[in-house]
Amino acid sequence: MKVDFHFHLEEGPYSLRWLERTARALSATSDEIGREQETGRSPLHSLSWINSVSAQLGRRIEQGPFHQNWIKRYLAEGRRRGIGKFGLVDHLYRFEEFKPYYLKHICVDDSPLGRLQREWLDRVCVTSASAFIEAAKAAAGSDDALSVGLEADYFPGGEAELAGLLEMLDVDYVIGSVHFIDGWGFDNPETASRFEDENLELLYARHFSLVQRAARSGLFDMIGHPDNIKVFGYRPDEGLLGELYRETARAFKEAGVATEVNTGLAYRYPVKEICPSPLLLAAMFEYGVPVTFSSDAHYPDDLGTLIDEAVELAKRTGYREAAWFKGGKRYLCEL
Ligand SMILES: [Zn+2]
Ligand SMILES: [Zn+2]
Repeated sequence: MKVDFHFHLEEGPYSLRWLERTARALSATSDEIGREQETGRSPLHSLSWINSVSAQLGRRIEQGPFHQNWIKRYLAEGRRRGIGKFGLVDHLYRFEEFKPYYLKHICVDDSPLGRLQREWLDRVCVTSASAFIEAAKAAAGSDDALSVGLEADYFPGGEAELAGLLEMLDVDYVIGSVHFIDGWGFDNPETASRFEDENLELLYARHFSLVQRAARSGLFDMIGHPDNIKVFGYRPDEGLLGELYRETARAFKEAGVATEVNTGLAYRYPVKEICPSPLLLAAMFEYGVPVTFSSDAHYPDDLGTLIDEAVELAKRTGYREAAWFKGGKRYLCEL
């Protein structure tokens, strides 16, 4: 069965690009506007088309990302692409109750990086975990096809605080992700130039040691995009990373966590490669680490993107099953 176990309903920052991208998602997933992608024809770009898109966009903004209409677009789009199991998550940095956790662990000082990240957090931290979980669970109903999860940032030293916060939330699974190294949100395009000043071998060693600590923290059911650090294409010769990859796979196995084959970086970021790389995935398979599959979509028309390619890669590596989660338990289904 095909699964997409990591996708989001919305992410800021709220820019003109966000507005345009949301309009595009509405247009691509609306029968009444005409499915541009499916027919290969452009919809009639008439004044009435503009009226229809802008009415839908207005409704979408008014209703917000947790409205059932918006969630239904993801599920309908996924089902059209043959997805049978869905995992809907949201980032903890979207939730006001987690803001102090982020303020404590990311750089928000008076440096240019700190100011930029403070501004970013203020702009994206606009909702609450209960609003997300309530809406996602309402969409799931009693159906096993949709699971509800969280994507949590791991910070060394923040384990007890995170455990206390997560304890209060009732979800099917928690993804542990490393998006920050020593306070720097390295996958933010606005800070990508910092890679130029880094020793990449040391940076990768630091990144994977954080990923391993995340796995061993016992807080997560799976680890998200384990080689996310390659996002902008900065990577040392991969031949030098074999030991680091094996050590990471061993840590996952010992901790009993799964990981994912995440296509987000392949279609949305400069590196244009699935996470993990074929070499890292081979190490995961060698150590018997279960994998799920995910598009990391942030818009309904991205749901399921490149999942077929990800499944092919996993099968070539030796995998025959996909992991999925419900009620804190891990299940496997045949690929
Ligand atoms: Zn992530
Ligand atoms: Zn994500």
